[in-house]
Amino acid sequence: MRTSEIHRRWLDFFAEKDHEIVPSASLVSSDPSILFTIAGMVPFIPYIIGTETAPYPRAASVQKCIRTNDIENVGRTTRHGTFFQMAGNFSFGDYFKTGAIDYSWEFLTTDQDHGGLGFDPERLWFTVWEQDEESYRHVTEVVGLDPQRVVRLPREEIFWDTGQPGPAGPCGEWHYDRGAEYGPDAVTGTVPEWPGDEKAEDRYIEIWNLVFDQFLRGEGKGKDYPLLGELDQKSIDTGLGVERVAYLLQGVDNMYEIDQIFPVIEKAQELSGRVYGADGEDDVHLRIIGDHVRSALMLVADGVRPGNEGRGYVLRRLIRRAVRSMRLLGYSERTMPALLPISKSLMVESYPALEADFVRISEIVYAEEEAFRRTLETGTTIFDDVAGAVKKEGGRVLPGEDAFRLHDTYGFPIDLTMEMAGEVGLQVDADAFRSAMQEQRERARADAAAKKAGHTDTALYNRLLTQRGGEVPFLGYTEDTVAT
Ligand code: ATP
Ligand code: MG
Ligand code: MG
Ligand code: MG
Repeated sequence: MRTSEIHRRWLDFFAEKDHEIVPSASLVSSDPSILFTIAGMVPFIPYIIGTETAPYPRAASVQKCIRTNDIENVGRTTRHGTFFQMAGNFSFGDYFKTGAIDYSWEFLTTDQDHGGLGFDPERLWFTVWEQDEESYRHVTEVVGLDPQRVVRLPREEIFWDTGQPGPAGPCGEWHYDRGAEYGPDAVTGTVPEWPGDEKAEDRYIEIWNLVFDQFLRGEGKGKDYPLLGELDQKSIDTGLGVERVAYLLQGVDNMYEIDQIFPVIEKAQELSGRVYGADGEDDVHLRIIGDHVRSALMLVADGVRPGNEGRGYVLRRLIRRAVRSMRLLGYSERTMPALLPISKSLMVESYPALEADFVRISEIVYAEEEAFRRTLETGTTIFDDVAGAVKKEGGRVLPGEDAFRLHDTYGFPIDLTMEMAGEVGLQVDADAFRSAMQEQRERARADAAAKKAGHTDTALYNRLLTQRGGEVPFLGYTEDTVAT
């Protein structure tokens, strides 16, 4: 089943159940405290926390999302994109737990000829809060799920809240069992103990999170707060990962191989001459390319422009990481003009506005690649000088300080430096590089502390102001190097 078809079925299913169909909000959230829309519930927050009355009792959407906290997972797990689509159904004081569980079960297991996704019921697992008797009983007794596949978890594992006093509640999560070839069985094996267990993550895939917004919570750190009682208006907020469902239904191995992404990877293979499936690290780069090209497309479409701070920096980083991955695959020609139009053609069915806007979008993305190419050229000249000097003296190690200067001043990614050093028979002094990075971080921290103490000049103050609303501060290129 194509990804756009899952999207369409979702909306049809919930329209049929009297839900107001709400179009996806922009990736750029209207809430200035959130950098991007990270979940389907974001546009509905006022209705869920009760600061506004919902204009409809139930709603459904397929929301475009960006999660920067998943960037390091991209290409390494089977299921994390920086951009993805979260399908959600919502109830504001209307149906509650049993209604939400019934709808989810019906949509997941109704066969494909009758509007559902047609998942094999025997492969579905459900996780619930250990004190949520109502959900447990409903899913085992009414839905009829084998109790062996219903796992009860402590509050730390399965509770939603906003981080401050207000609404909170337990979740119920659907997981799909991909089968024995992906890991030990959660029933007969001793590991994993439950589907959400990290060790089990290749086998048991979380596909749908149902949040039962039930309690009023008090003050407390983490999940350690008192529940003060039941809310007057209880809400339902759910999120199903469209790409995860797509990859499971399309019989491929991970979300980067779905119809909306894989043709970009195929093009990247063709350009680089590397074959997907032949080498683990190459595959990670190919998946990063498939993911990041799409995320860049969707971000620029929603009005983000590359820059050095906040949203713009995230976009810049995505484009540069994609270009860098192509270089690490041995391809150093212009790459976005070959890849971006493919991504657009794959996304346009679900997002028709991409067609008319594509000239503008592509100009922005191509210009950013050009800027990065110039950076890389300057860096390469400096690299050649340094490497030449080391070799002339018969050395075999490229000093960490030089690698750091390339990185810090010229924006030259460390893994590229390492790769290029390898090509000329040198090794980068990684320890020295790391300690230079560490020193820089400490300097930045000291600066921040000075700012807090009031020792701040107006330029810094202005920059801080423009950063407000950016939950991800400008970190230079440091995050690019966490793998080292
Ligand atoms: P995981 O534990 O796998 O990281 P999550 O618990 O962080 O997922 P939720 O915040 O519950 O995810 O989001 C609801 C649903 O959205 C998930 O059940 C999943 O199907 C999907 N989802 C979450 N993050 C991603 C992502 N980075 N890429 C693709 N789909 C995602
Ligand atoms: Mg997550
Ligand atoms: Mg989870
Ligand atoms: Mg979850």
